[in-house]
Amino acid sequence: MRLNKEAFRELKLLLGDRLLTRKEDLFPYSFDASSLFFFPDGVALPERKEEVIEILRIADYYEFPIVARGCGTATTGSPLPITGGLVVSFTRMNKILELNLEERTVRVEPGVINGELKAYLKRYGLFYPPDPASYAFSSIGGNVATGAGGPRGLKYGTTKDYVLSLEVALPGGKVLKTGPQTLKGVVPYNLTPLFVGSEGTLGLFLEILLKVIPLPEKRRLYLIFFPEEVLAFHFLTEILKMGLTPASAEFVDKTTLQALREKLEPYKDKAPFSSLLFIELDGSFEEVLKDSQRFERILKERKYPFILADEEEEIERLWEIRRAISPLLKKLGAKKIADDITLPRRALSEFLKFLRDLEKASGISISAFGHAGDGNLHVNLLFEEEKKDIVRSLREQIFKKVLELCGTISGEHGVGYLKRPFVIWELDPLQIEIMKKLKSLFDPKGILNPQIKLPD
Ligand SMILES: Cc1cc2nc3c(=O)[nH]c(=O)nc-3n(C[C@H](O)[C@H](O)[C@H](O)COP(=O)(O)OP(=O)(O)OC[C@H]3O[C@@H](n4cnc5c(N)ncnc54)[C@H](O)[C@@H]3O)c2cc1C
Repeated sequence: MRLNKEAFRELKLLLGDRLLTRKEDLFPYSFDASSLFFFPDGVALPERKEEVIEILRIADYYEFPIVARGCGTATTGSPLPITGGLVVSFTRMNKILELNLEERTVRVEPGVINGELKAYLKRYGLFYPPDPASYAFSSIGGNVATGAGGPRGLKYGTTKDYVLSLEVALPGGKVLKTGPQTLKGVVPYNLTPLFVGSEGTLGLFLEILLKVIPLPEKRRLYLIFFPEEVLAFHFLTEILKMGLTPASAEFVDKTTLQALREKLEPYKDKAPFSSLLFIELDGSFEEVLKDSQRFERILKERKYPFILADEEEEIERLWEIRRAISPLLKKLGAKKIADDITLPRRALSEFLKFLRDLEKASGISISAFGHAGDGNLHVNLLFEEEKKDIVRSLREQIFKKVLELCGTISGEHGVGYLKRPFVIWELDPLQIEIMKKLKSLFDPKGILNPQIKLPD
């Protein structure tokens, strides 16, 4: 299934210069944030939804693959043309279409950057909580297609909790509008959540209606230093049992701390420490004050050293340390394989101990950090080229342990191409059969994101 001359001619007529075909122009669309690399036959840069609809009509007629792409920050290969075909990049469909203050909704094109939407809403005292660490450079369309989460998932949930309805273009050029446009409504089957996390395999988003909420008045960020790694998880359980619900609870393990050594230099008087928690409290001024008094009381009882950031600038400076982790981890090994597993919170300590045993037995550094608040950890294998053969076996052992602990092999990054072989480990045959039937209902010729998400 590749593009032929006639297909190129029709696309050229439709898009003119916004159809890219030269090798050097295609290159930036041949990778994402994984280490995978697949070259497209062409790249379309639509500016209007009518163009996307027409692209899908042409693709259906000539039967070539269509691969949706936001900003290409996926870590799984999900926006890559595994079997060639046309990449449809949504970066030029990036308008905020309508803010409805009365309903507290915002309608956007898929290419709007998450961080730009946040900044826009802030002017109206409003807030779109889903905050992947990539929020400054990933798109709402990509966030919806991956079901992105982030630190604030603990209190506010993830992307799935904010998508009210979608306008979706299907192969052949049909357009599906999911859900009612109202804040509630039960007439249709609820198709909207089916598309959240669908990784471009069911349809291409043209417009997205999102719920927004009032911006919290005040926030406070604590950075807490623990003498033993798992004490961070025990502490988290304790505060949740007390009835406190922080906006975020982000964990950093001892391997990751090595990558952050320079950034943490100002806090070396808190040493020795083996793990960190970033805990953010937010709400009204009164709520934050009351919660922080309870929170600090228990911190002092446990004698855990901590620092508190109370002003916006300080808070952002501390969060920058957390967001720097992914790029800085590269210092710890020539190669890095990143997975994002999610566990019931009670299983986090056992899982971390398992990782340490695996690290000792294999000689490969394993870093685990992330959104402990909702049980989601980013597990990174960091290794030198000569050790690459044992990495597959390590990943398999990690996924087996995750499933044994009743977890999932992807909490937010998706399956993409990298985790596709492991889907049959997690899902039962009936679930897979239903997923395949749904896929063929929306995409009977299988032209959307081939070899992504669904197993063969
Ligand atoms: C440093 C770093 C930190 C990260 N932190 C997080 C994190 O905290 N939480 C998290 O969840 N993820 C995180 N990610 C992963 C990534 O940023 C998210 O998966 C993000 O949602 C991808 O958005 P994107 O715009 O880059 O989409 P892309 O990577 O371009 O595409 C992702 C998927 O969306 C599909 N897609 C894109 N646009 C459309 C559309 N209009 N219609 C249908 N399908 C579409 C693509 O086909 C693909 O399957 C991180 C990545 C990096 C590099």
